[in-house]
Amino acid sequence: MPKKLVWDAHSCLPLRPGLDFSVLSRHAAAGVDFVSINVGMDFNPWPDMLRVIASYRAWILARPEQFVLAGRIEDVEAARRDGKMAIAFDLEGSEMLDGDIDLFRLFRDLGVRQIHLAYNRNNRAAGGCHDAEDGNDVGLSDWGRRIVAAANQFGVMMDCSHSSYRTSMEVMEQSLRPVVFSHANARALTDHPRNIRDDQIRACAATGGVVGITGIGPFLGVSDDLAAAMLRHIDHVAAMVGPAHVGLGFDASLMPGVADALPPDREPWWPARFGYGGNTVRAGAEQLPAIVEGLQQRGYDDASVHGILGENFLRVARACWLP
Ligand SMILES: [Zn+2]
Repeated sequence: MPKKLVWDAHSCLPLRPGLDFSVLSRHAAAGVDFVSINVGMDFNPWPDMLRVIASYRAWILARPEQFVLAGRIEDVEAARRDGKMAIAFDLEGSEMLDGDIDLFRLFRDLGVRQIHLAYNRNNRAAGGCHDAEDGNDVGLSDWGRRIVAAANQFGVMMDCSHSSYRTSMEVMEQSLRPVVFSHANARALTDHPRNIRDDQIRACAATGGVVGITGIGPFLGVSDDLAAAMLRHIDHVAAMVGPAHVGLGFDASLMPGVADALPPDREPWWPARFGYGGNTVRAGAEQLPAIVEGLQQRGYDDASVHGILGENFLRVARACWLP
């Protein structure tokens, strides 16, 4: 089998400027060809996020022999040809847009290619999955609908991870382009509020989108053998909607242990009763060989394996990003 394109739809660096981000080289060496890096969540003030983006960009652009800031699909394809890793950014929530659609355009111009509208909690645009769990499942506001329309227009992929059930269904109904869950697992297998129901998975596939299976222990329902658990979630989605709608979004913490820009009170964002904590296990790209082997053992053909590893997300990006 030729070298497979690997698309990691979401992983994280510390949200702090001025660090040495050379761990990205390790992600690349593990086989990742493209990674979407989170540049902030709903609790991060947007001016801080601009400094984080400035720092990430400066570090990446200073190393053109290893990395490419991907604005277009051609950048991803050229990077792969040249043995480099392509990187784009994503927004976790929409509070950083501060009610200003022009600020969204600026984030896009700086490299953001993926957005979900609410980070676990309800905000002025949309509903978050943990408020929904507490019985307050809200959909899109007028402002939220404006962001979805702008995302379609600006060439930013719409993501429904961290969103409430209602919000995700309304985004998938409204969006004119495929919609993804960049990092979420199947709730039928692991009953966690960050995971998604079967009808959300079907609605995502109906848009032409992809569910990125994530490596976070509590969302996999295990604390070890993470690759085997990821394979079970891959199987569940593939059996229901086909392997063309499955991908990977590891949500790897690439620099664990380094202080991050997190809220002083973690409980509203990551309620302890849902298993969040300092020792949360997370699978990263080091699991790729086990995932590939597992897929082949389970009888996935080469085209399906290539799709799950990266070609499916590439297809969606081609449909969503601007040419
Ligand atoms: Zn996330």
